Amino acid sequence: METVFSGIQPSGELHIGNYLGAVRTWVALQDQYRCFYCIVDLHAITQPYEPAEMPRRIREMAIDLIACGIDPTKATLFVQSAVPEHTELAWMLASVTPFGELGRMTQFKDKSERNPENINAGLFTYPVLQAADVLLYGATRVPVGEDQRQHLELVREIVRKWNARFGDTFAEPQPLLSSTPKILGLDGQGKMSKSLGNTIGLREADAKIWDKLRAAATDPARARRTDPGDPDVCNVFTLHRFFSDDKRQQDVRAGCTTAGIGCIDCKKWLLEGMLGDLQRIARRRDELAAQPHKIDEILADGARRARAVARETMTRIRARLGLDAHGEPGTTG
Ligand code: SF4
Repeated sequence: METVFSGIQPSGELHIGNYLGAVRTWVALQDQYRCFYCIVDLHAITQPYEPAEMPRRIREMAIDLIACGIDPTKATLFVQSAVPEHTELAWMLASVTPFGELGRMTQFKDKSERNPENINAGLFTYPVLQAADVLLYGATRVPVGEDQRQHLELVREIVRKWNARFGDTFAEPQPLLSSTPKILGLDGQGKMSKSLGNTIGLREADAKIWDKLRAAATDPARARRTDPGDPDVCNVFTLHRFFSDDKRQQDVRAGCTTAGIGCIDCKKWLLEGMLGDLQRIARRRDELAAQPHKIDEILADGARRARAVARETMTRIRARLGLDAHGEPGTTG
C-alpha cells in the first residue's frame, strides 16, 4: 500500500475551501492508502501568532478534521511538533537544497510582500520542512492543489540531489491531483483564504453564512434579474456541485440560463444544501468537543505511531550521513 502525507495548519477553524478542496479528499484517501495527516504547527509559527492560543487552535483543528470524517483508526492523525524528527530531517535536507530555488518559491514571495515586516528565515526554508514532512514517512503520494505544486517539485529535486550525494534513500513523491473543481473565494477573486476574508467558516452561524452567500459574486455578465446567466462561470454554481443533489443542480442550470430564477433564489437553494452538510459536521464536532481527553488521546496515539516510523527513517538517514557513530541514535526528545 502506498503512503500519503498531507498537512494542514492549525488555523483555529476550517473553512469550506479547506473542507471541499482538501479534507474531503483526505477522507476518501484514508480507505485506499496508508495516510499520515499532520497538523503542522511548526509551519504555523512562521507567521505572527499568540502562543497561549496555539493549544486551542490545534485541538479545534483535530476536532474539525475528525468531525469532517477523518478516522484516526484508519489514518495517523498527529501534531508535527510532537515528532521532533521533522526538524532534524529538515536540517539535513537543507544541506542539499539549492538556495536559489527557495528564493524562487511563489509562496515565499507572496507572503513576504503581504507581510514585509515578517520576512523570517523560517518562511524562507518552509519548503524544506515540507520536504522533511513527506520524506520522513516514505510518502510516495502527496495530494496537492495548484498552489502547492511548486513546493512538491522542489521536494522531488531535493530527493534527486540527496540520492545523488548520499545514495538511493528516498523515492520521489508524486502528486495526487484532485478532480475537485476550483473553488474561488466568495468575492470571486482568487483562492478562498481566511486571510483574504472571502470564506465561510465551518463554525459560522447560519445567519452569518447567509449574509456572506447573499453578497457572494455570481456570473459577472448577469447584471439584471432578467438577464440569463452562465452557471459554468459562476462560483455559486461551483458550490452547488458540492452541496446540492443532481436534480437541484439541473434546476439551477435551467433556471439560470433562461433567467427563470434570480441569483437570490439560487443562493437560497445553495444555503439549504450547505446547512445540511455543515449542521451534520457541527453535531459531530459538539460530541467530540465534549470529550477533550479523547482528542488528546487520539493525537498522542497518532504521535506515537508517526514517531515509530520517523525514528526508523532517521536511523537510516544518520547512517547515510555518517552521523551515527558517536551517540545513541534515535534518542532525540
Ligand atoms: Fe450564478 Fe445561480 Fe446567479 Fe446563475 S442564478 S449566475 S448560477 S448565482
